[in-house]
Amino acid sequence: MKITAIETALTRSAPPGRRVWGFIRLKTDEELVGLGQCQVARGLHDVLDWIGPLLIGANPLEIEVLSHRVYHATSYQGGQGGWVVHIWSGIETALWDLAGKYYGAPIAQLLGGKFRDKVRIYADLHAGETREPASWAERARWAVDKGFTAIKFDLDAYVKGFYGGGWEDRRPISNPELYEMVEQVRAVREAIGPTIDLALDCHWSYTTVDAIRLGNALAPFDPLFFEDPVPPEDFGAMKEVTEHVAVPTCTGESLFTRRAWVPLIEARAIKIAAPDLMKGGGLLEGKKIADMCELHAIPLCPHNTSTPVGTLAQAHLCAAIPNFIALEFHSIDEPRWQEFIVGDWPVIEEGYITIPEAPGLGVELNDDFVKELTIEASAGFYMD
Ligand code: MG
Repeated sequence: MKITAIETALTRSAPPGRRVWGFIRLKTDEELVGLGQCQVARGLHDVLDWIGPLLIGANPLEIEVLSHRVYHATSYQGGQGGWVVHIWSGIETALWDLAGKYYGAPIAQLLGGKFRDKVRIYADLHAGETREPASWAERARWAVDKGFTAIKFDLDAYVKGFYGGGWEDRRPISNPELYEMVEQVRAVREAIGPTIDLALDCHWSYTTVDAIRLGNALAPFDPLFFEDPVPPEDFGAMKEVTEHVAVPTCTGESLFTRRAWVPLIEARAIKIAAPDLMKGGGLLEGKKIADMCELHAIPLCPHNTSTPVGTLAQAHLCAAIPNFIALEFHSIDEPRWQEFIVGDWPVIEEGYITIPEAPGLGVELNDDFVKELTIEASAGFYMD
């Protein structure tokens, strides 16, 4: 089998459409077509202009070989991270979809087999409608009533401008802000009880000293994890926080390839890993990261803000690793999210994804819906 064409479509994300998503279709000389998604699709055409010729004519089943080829061919062109890895992640997913269709097996099986048939999902709820703790509690109860057994809130909601104002720079936490965050989390924990997992995200907003103060103030509410309290590239700060807080620290959504994970894992600078393989290197890279984590007794809660295509791709990986807790779902407020794919089954049901039995990803794109949201597509993407 040989790759004959790489077709692409850039779309707005599910309504209300705040992001740009990219879809990849790999055509082959055997009439099989592989589907993938780039979670961050900026630069798609520029990157493909460089790496496309490496892939056309190649055997798509040689995923490890192609992954190395692209890494080495782009090493002078920023290939260690950023847009090159973002775009490669979507292409690599499409290679796995092709491999599954070729061998007649779900991706999870090709990755070594399923540790579980259903993958647990946590709902990212962002924040209450207002700053009032009761509003946060109400939103938490709403998600738990939908069947989710794990939820997440953004502790830095005020920094992100959820309640007016714009995104503010990283800064110290004042006492009134700290008090407000603690009361919001207290209200949520009281609303959901002790058995629902509660994750808390900080989006790299704080200084080390404040992250430590905040983390310890939250310890009585037993968070599942305390995510990205300090800048993403500062492993030293992360390690310091990890060593001085009584809550499990977590990071990873902005790391590229397994190479970025080595120092973090070896330094034991985190307690939980949150890679996003639809932007951080693809599924094979994810398997390797999960293996490294497993050797260091670190579990995974992968970051995920993708369409059902990228979400299911990551779910296959989550099924195929032993050290898994829960996968993120970022689109609880996007009622048309499911429409990216065809089929009448819910991707997420009662807080879980059941891994499809069909070969590859197990889903196909809903062209009618994707066309509606498309900003730009290459010739041939839509097979009318
Ligand atoms: Mg996050």
